[in-house]
Formats: sequence, C-alpha cells, structure tokens
Amino acid sequence: MARLDRKVAIISGSGRGIGRQLAVMLAAEGAAVVVNDLDQEPADETVALIGKAGGQASAVVGDVTEADFGDRFVKAAIDGFGGLDIVVNNAGYTWDSIIQKMSDTQWDAIMDVHLKAPFRILRAAQPIFAAAAKSERESGAVTCRKVVNISSIAGLNGNAGQVNYAAGKAGIVGMTKALAKEWGRYNVTVNAVAFGMIKTRLTEAPADGSSVIDIAGRQISVGVNPQILAGMEQRIPLGRAGTPEEAAGAVYLLCIPESDYITGQVLLCGGGLG
Ligand code: NAD
Repeated sequence: MARLDRKVAIISGSGRGIGRQLAVMLAAEGAAVVVNDLDQEPADETVALIGKAGGQASAVVGDVTEADFGDRFVKAAIDGFGGLDIVVNNAGYTWDSIIQKMSDTQWDAIMDVHLKAPFRILRAAQPIFAAAAKSERESGAVTCRKVVNISSIAGLNGNAGQVNYAAGKAGIVGMTKALAKEWGRYNVTVNAVAFGMIKTRLTEAPADGSSVIDIAGRQISVGVNPQILAGMEQRIPLGRAGTPEEAAGAVYLLCIPESDYITGQVLLCGGGLG
C-alpha cells in the first residue's frame, strides 16, 4: 500500500513550479489531488502528468483571491474524491518594490494571495475537518489530517524590496501557529515550510524587467539580479539554489504519517541558509 492511499489533497498554485512537483509526488504515493492554478493550461498539464503516471487528479482553475474560491476548492475535493485530508497553500508570486515606490494595490494584491486566500481556504475546510474528527472519534478510527502553508525565508528574516511579501509570508507563520492550536482537537497538524532560493520562474530569470509573469491580466516583473543570485548561492551552505523537486520534498515530509506528531512548526528548506 502506498503511503497516502485513500487520502485527498488540495494544492493551490500547482500548475507550475514547486506546487506541480508536490502534486506529482503526493499522487505517486496514492493521494487523489485537486490541482489549482490561475491558468488553465498549466493546471491541465499537471492533471495529465498525474494521470499518465496512473494517479488521480482534477483541476479547479481560478484565482485563489476570489471570495468564493475556498468553498469551491474544498467542494471539489469532497464532490470529486469523497473527502479532504491534506491542504497545501502554495499559490503565490512576488511583486517587489522599495517601500517608497510600493502602491497600495501592490501591497493588497500580495496580502490577498499570501494571507487572505489561505485564510479563506482553511476556513472553508474547517467544517469538513470538524465533522471528520467527530465521526472518526465515534468509530474509533482516528486519522491525522495535514495543512502545510508555504512561507519564505523573506518572511522569517525580511528582504529588502519585499516589504509586502515579507509581511505576507511572516503573517502565514502566525496563521499556522494559531491554527495548530485551534485544530489539534481535530487531529489536524498545521505546519509551514519556508523556502530559501528555489529555481522556478520567480527566481530563475534576471531581474532586469525582461522576465514578466501574467497574474490575472496584470504584467509583473519577476526574477533575481544575477549578481545577487550568485552572491546568495555562495552564502548557501549547500552551495546552490534548490530545485522544485527538493522544495516539494520538504512539504511532502509534513504530509506523510511519519510527521503526525509535528504541528505548529516552520521547516526552513534553504540548503542551510539560516
Ligand atoms: P511558480 O510561479 O513556479 O508557481 C506558482 C504558481 O502559482 C503559478 O503557476 C501561478 O500561476 C500560481 N498562482 C499565482 N497566483 C495565483 C492565484 N492568485 N491563484 C491561483 N494560482 C496562482 O512559483 P514557485 O516558486 O513554485 O512558488 C510557489 C510558492 O513558493 C509561492 O507561495 C512562493 O511565494 C513560495 N516561495 C518560492 C520561493 C522560490 O525561491 N521559488 C522562495 C520562497 C517561497
């Protein structure tokens, strides 16, 4: 039997990067995965990858910041696969500026995607977790459910040019710790993984304005200055940025039964970057 047989997972932002790798990894261990992304094509590609490998997946395409998104996402797990065991709040992006150049729109957009959307998704999951805990307690077949929220080393230590992102990624740590305390009684563990430098479209390209991502029709410049990237890689004890597979591996650890007694923690996945 695979480690996650009969488990159902929802992973936001799993059309690309770390979220996609995690979706593939959880499905390979037997979990049915509800994939989400803003963009249809990458979400469909993740579902197809899982299907090709013999796993089960469906997609809920849409913006996690929409007011009803949390309810739709949770409902897709219940209607499509009959339950909800693992929630991973991964969708996100950066929209950097030094504070004097940062607009309210920029601040709000980053708070919405990194904080309000996870809050709404988890609020929508609460009745499911509470009902499952009650019926499993009555039947004596108690199982552990998992929430993993994605943070960043910028949320733990701060980062110049990312006052919005650092605040959002610090906020998700607070949310994680509060919910670990609320949901212990449901046998739900709530942890966070903070990534250091992982090679995805957010970090791979040079930050010279040439690398632009489309977030719901808004063109946003991403990337890291190659000199800063090289300097950072020198400061990473393992000597290099991580891969999306390695980043997904850290989240995976907090989704498997071996981590059932770990809750309210932040795991830093950064090659030794402190
Ligand atoms: P990525 O761009 O490769 O993947 C993120 C996915 O999220 C994209 O497919 C994107 O379309 C989707 N997404 C963005 N906004 C969305 C929204 N509003 N609704 C639905 N989907 C949305 O990036 P990644 O590096 O894999 O990032 C995953 C998470 O890891 C993010 O929360 C990011 O902040 C965090 N993180 C990444 C790094 C890094 O070095 N790459 C470091 C620290 C934290």
